[in-house]
Amino acid sequence: MAELLRVNSLNTGYEDMQILWDVHLWMNQGECVLVLGSNGAGKTTLLKTLVGLVDAWSGEVELAQQSLIKMSVDRRIHAGIGYLSETGTIPSLTVEDNLRLGGFYLSRTERERRGNEMYENFPILREKRKHLADSLSGGQRKMLGAAKALMSNPKLLIMDEPSAGLSPRLVTELIEILKGFHKQGLSLLIAEQNVKFLDIAERVYVLDSGRIGFAGTVKELQADDAIRKAYFGVTGQ
Ligand code: ATP
Repeated sequence: MAELLRVNSLNTGYEDMQILWDVHLWMNQGECVLVLGSNGAGKTTLLKTLVGLVDAWSGEVELAQQSLIKMSVDRRIHAGIGYLSETGTIPSLTVEDNLRLGGFYLSRTERERRGNEMYENFPILREKRKHLADSLSGGQRKMLGAAKALMSNPKLLIMDEPSAGLSPRLVTELIEILKGFHKQGLSLLIAEQNVKFLDIAERVYVLDSGRIGFAGTVKELQADDAIRKAYFGVTGQ
C-alpha cells in the first residue's frame, strides 16, 4: 500500500521550551492511526505542526511524498489535509455556512454534492442547517466540526481529541460514523486519550512527554503490560 504520511525527526516547541523530541511517525493510505497520550503529552502540538499552525524547529513532514514543512496552512489543506481542532467550528456562522467554508476549495456543484453527503451522514445537521453553530449542543458541534473537515474530501483527516466533551453514547456514535468514512477509504490520524478509539484504529503511537514511547498495532499495544496499566487501569494478570 502507498505511503501517505511520513514524519521524520520532528522537533518543536514554544519559544525556548521544547515539547516534541525526535518524533517519527508514518502511515499508509487508507489506514487509521491513533496517537494516544495523556494530558500535556504533546498531541495537540504534534497535530498543529502537521497542519502548519506550529512551526517545526527541525525534521520533515511529507504527505504522499510531498514535503509540507515549508507550506502555509492553506497550501497544506490544498495538498489534502483536513483538520478538526478541539473546537472545530465557527460559532457565529450557521451550520450550512460552516459546511460551505469547509468546502471552500471545491467547485459549487461539488460543494453541494459533498454537503448533501454530509447531511446524509449527520442527519441532525440537515435539521439544524439554518441554526448558528453556537446554538448547537456540544455533541452536535463536534459532528459539525467533523463534517466541516470532511467537506474538502481530504486525503488525510487529522482529528484532535474528537471525544472531548462528548457523552459515551455520542463517542460511540461518532466512531461509527468515522468507521463508515474509513471503510470508503478515508485515512485518519486521531489524537486521543480515550481508548475507545482503538476500535477504529489499525496502529497506534503512544506519545509520552513529547517522545514516541510505543509504536505498533492495536494488538501489540494491548499486549504491552506497562501501557495496559497506564491506559486501561489493569495489569497483565
Ligand atoms: P491535552 O490533552 O491536555 O490537550 P496534549 O497532549 O494535546 O494535551 P499539548 O496541548 O500539545 O498536549 O501541550 C504540550 C505541552 O505544551 C504542555 O506542557 C502545554 O502546556 C504546552 N503548550 C501548549 N501550547 C502552548 C503554547 N501556545 N505556548 C506555550 N506552551 C504551550
